[in-house]
Parts: sequence; structure tokens; C-alpha cells
Amino acid sequence: MPHIGNRQFFLQHLAQTSDAPLLLDIARAEGHYMFDSEGKRYFDLISGISVSSLGHRHPEILEAIQNQLQQYMHLMVYGEVVQSPQIHLAEALGKVLPSCLDNFYFVNSGSEAIEGAMKLAKRYTGRSVFVAQTNAYHGGTQGALSLMSNEYYSGPYRPLLPDIRFLEADDIVALNEMNEVPAAIVLELIQAERGSIPVSREYAMAVREFCNRTGALMIVDEIQTGMGRTGSMFAFEQYDIIPDILVLGKALGGGMPMGAFIANKHVMHCLSENPVLGHITTFGGHPVCCAAATAAVNITAENLSVYQVKEKEKLFRELLIHPKILRVEGNGLLLAAHLDSDLTCKNVIKNALKEGVFTDWFLYAPHALRIAPPLSISMEEIRHICKVLLNVLNY
Ligand code: PMP
Repeated sequence: MPHIGNRQFFLQHLAQTSDAPLLLDIARAEGHYMFDSEGKRYFDLISGISVSSLGHRHPEILEAIQNQLQQYMHLMVYGEVVQSPQIHLAEALGKVLPSCLDNFYFVNSGSEAIEGAMKLAKRYTGRSVFVAQTNAYHGGTQGALSLMSNEYYSGPYRPLLPDIRFLEADDIVALNEMNEVPAAIVLELIQAERGSIPVSREYAMAVREFCNRTGALMIVDEIQTGMGRTGSMFAFEQYDIIPDILVLGKALGGGMPMGAFIANKHVMHCLSENPVLGHITTFGGHPVCCAAATAAVNITAENLSVYQVKEKEKLFRELLIHPKILRVEGNGLLLAAHLDSDLTCKNVIKNALKEGVFTDWFLYAPHALRIAPPLSISMEEIRHICKVLLNVLNY
């Protein structure tokens, strides 16, 4: 192949997911910043979509990875060999979860964790119907895609899973009028891709109550809300509910690919008989990823009060006042500035990038600006970033 520039090669030979990629050519990332091939610095205001919550290349995560590299990498498909990195991760998560969530299935991604959770709910309940919320996002694989109400994105892949019902989040009346019992209700407590819209406490509790009454399982997708992003280790703690199956991904791996679905041992046991091997994954629970994730869980838990997530949310809300900002939605550092149009948002993203601030929009809310920085962002950095955003809103 003749030598062409990186950007041109990327466009020519790497599969494209849109006709307008950002085309930033990043050479290095450290802490809160990414550096392009010309050395220009960008503040990472979205943490790789809520992944780098502890910043890029956190030294303790790097150390954990390096230590594990000295021991072993892949040994065997998931579930056969006792691997201490998986044990350490389960122990670390066990310390920050209620005791009933005591059984961990480690996988490769958020989508795979959702697939696993759905399979488990089918096996445990013997039912096939799933209830999802409109405007939820649970992943790109075909089971997860079946839970997506947005026809633009899911329609071209039909037929998807049958027996999926949709409820409008917060519609408690419709929830209680449901006359069939599903295997599970799948819920994001903050509908991230809708522009960080939290579901109400009453609704989450009504779903919990419906599941208690009917024997449906409550699956809570904390792939984006988990690991301290809303100020508590997991958002469900702020809702006074405990899910039957908790699904994690993104920040769990501290920058490495990692997902998990977590349930009670009694529920999870279904995947081990009739048929055995209820979920098979070669790389799930990869030892290097588990080592990174253990460090990420421990660092997050130890520093949660230091990060002052709620105070930082307050400062963002105080500063993000502008005629083109209609409202700021979200919880903690999973925020969305809802702007007056898609075009305004597109221009802000483009011009903020020129000013060294890297941000993005939301899948179902192209008018909303994504604000999901590393949890260790400083108050000074928040002031600077808001100044940049308000300035480019005036262009
Ligand atoms: N659920 C939620 C709430 C998500 O935000 C995402 C990813 N954006 C997923 C599931 C899917 O995760 P992954 O892309 O790792 O498969």
C-alpha cells in the first residue's frame, strides 16, 4: 500500500460509522487531556463516553496492568480456570455492592453484559417478554438493539427479538396497567442518550414494586451511570432500590474493555445447568482487564468523597447560563446542556474543539452537549471550560 497520511488511511481503510468523523489524530492521552499529533492539547470533557472517569492512564491502573502482564494474559475461556484477577475484582465489587448482588459474570463490553443479563432473565423466569423504556440505549448487538425504541437506528435490523414492549419512562399508570408478566424490565436510571434525563424516584420504585409483585426481574443498566459518575458508586443507591441484575461496563475497566452482569448466586446458577454453558465467552473476564478494573473500582471507591461530584455538578449548573442553553439535565457528572438547536450544538462542538475542549452530542438528543468529564476535574478546570463553552455559544 502506498504511504498516505493517517487521516486519509483512516477514511480509506477503517470501517466508518458516519460520513462526518471528527478526524482528531490523537498521539497521546494523560490525565484529563488528549494530545494530537501536532502536540495540541484537548480537555476530555466526555471521558471517551463515560469510560475514562479516572482520567487517562491513571498510574495505579497502569501499575495493575503491568503487574498482571508479568503473571499471565489469556489462559482459557471464561469459567473453567481459577483466575485471581477475576477473584480480586469480584471481591472489590462485593465491598461496594449490597450483599444480595454476590455473583459476577465478567464479559467484554456493555452490550455483551446486556445480552448476558437478558439470557439470564429468560432462563430464570422461563419467560420471553422484555419491557424496555422508550429512548433507552442498551447497546449495538442484536438483543440489546431489540430494546431500542428508536426506529431510525433499529428498524433496518429487523427482525430483531420478538416480544419486546416499550414503556414511556415515568409512566407509572402504563406500568401498572401491563397485563402480562415479562421476564424482566430493563431500565437506565438516567436515560443517557436521551440527553441525561433521570427517571423519577417514584417510577424506579414502581418498577421495583411491579417486579416484586410479579416475579419479573429488574435489570438496571448502569453502564454509563456506574462507577461514581452520579456521585454515588452506583446510581441505584440514590433511588433506594436494588436491582435483580446490575449491568456494568464503560468505566468499570478503567480504560480497558470490560463489562459485567451481576446477580444473586441463586439467579445466576441458571446459566450453569440445562443447558450448561448458558453464556460462553472466550475473552470475558480477561485477566489484564480484571486487574485494571479492580484498580478502577478501588480508586473510585476510595476517592468518591474527594471527587466532590455533586459540588462539581452544582458549579457546572451555576456557570452554564446562556440564552442558547435551554436547560441542563442530568445527575452528577453525567450532564447535558440542552441547546436551542442541533446546529448550535454542532457548532459548539466544532468551535470548542478549536479552543481545546473535546465534547460531543447524544444519540437521541443531537441538540444536547455532552458533559461527562473525568471525576477528578478541578473546579478551576470547570470554570475554564464553561468560559470556553459560553464564548463559543456567542459565535
Ligand atoms: N448501555 C448504555 C447505557 C450505554 O451507554 C452503552 C454504550 N454507550 C451500552 C449499554 C453499550 O455498551 P458497549 O458500547 O460497551 O457495548
